[in-house]
Amino acid sequence: MSYPQAHHGPRLYDFRSDTVTKPTPAMLAAMAAAEVGDDVWGDDPTVNRLQAVAAERLGFEAGLFAPSGTQSNLIGLLTHCQRGDEYLVGQDAHTYKYEGGGAAVLGSIQPQPLENAADGSIPLAKLQKAVKPRDAHFARTRLLALENTIGGKLLPAAYVAEATAWAKGIGLATHLDGARLANAAVASARSLREMSAGFDSVSLCLSKGLGAPVGSLLLGSRAFIDEAKRWRKMLGGGMRQAGILAAAGLYALDHHLERLAEDHENAARLAQGLAALPGLSVLAPQTNIVFVSVDAAIAERFAAHLAGQGILISGSTEQRWVTHLDVDAAAVDAALAVAQRFFG
Ligand SMILES: *Cc1c(COP(=O)(O)O)cnc(C)c1O
Repeated sequence: MSYPQAHHGPRLYDFRSDTVTKPTPAMLAAMAAAEVGDDVWGDDPTVNRLQAVAAERLGFEAGLFAPSGTQSNLIGLLTHCQRGDEYLVGQDAHTYKYEGGGAAVLGSIQPQPLENAADGSIPLAKLQKAVKPRDAHFARTRLLALENTIGGKLLPAAYVAEATAWAKGIGLATHLDGARLANAAVASARSLREMSAGFDSVSLCLSKGLGAPVGSLLLGSRAFIDEAKRWRKMLGGGMRQAGILAAAGLYALDHHLERLAEDHENAARLAQGLAALPGLSVLAPQTNIVFVSVDAAIAERFAAHLAGQGILISGSTEQRWVTHLDVDAAAVDAALAVAQRFFG
């Protein structure tokens, strides 16, 4: 059997996002061998296995395979909240800022965005003040939505425990956008289950650092997932022989989780190298995302230089470099050498 090459043409190192990874030959082999069925009927054994495995690993009763993290989060919000409800969410959160306003547009759910602290948390005092009285003037505060990692940062464990306990105490449901929860787990040497504790639902991306081509999982109670399945269908997310994709997810959970530590080491190595260059101000990464502020006088030329040498990143004055399965330590060194050449 032969498989497509990971790269065609001139060598590119793509640091734009951890979503750009291509399936490895072993992952493709697992996909090719997947047993499939019609998942809308619940007949796909590989999807069923992925959902069960993920539910077990994260400590929930059930799971639902969704085409994307955006859809998985939206299904979560739609399942928790009715029309006219609101969710408390960070100003920088994906579920508020980067999902096209889906909860408001498709769910008539009002977001109540609150400014994130520097560590990514939403201070408890702000959350407490934002809860609306039970009065016809207000939307019904229903849900607290957090994110981990957020902007590549680990949400402090003590904060997660405190915020979820507070929410539970006043009858709010809790949702965790854990698109990169696997990075958070590896970086803090805790299990996915420990990272998910206290939440009623979690969304986990398979297509970020875990390196699957497509897919996310929503985890929750059996009753929650039964209801979520209805919303997934309504959003057009019911896929048929999706076991081919689920097989990639299963492979990723089994083989690509521990190795996230390498991405974190590579990010640290990248940050250290870039920090030594003039005109760059580098935030020390906690996981696989490096933020670099570039002197405005050189930003455009520096970004063009990198792109011209096959080093792809996002942004120019505020750069984001992301390490992943397809950029190893040698790629980091190659990128640093290109960056160094710009400065002579
Ligand atoms: C990428 C991401 C999502 C959405 O995932 P997609 O599969 O790209 O739709 C949600 N939340 C966070 C924090 C993300 O980084």
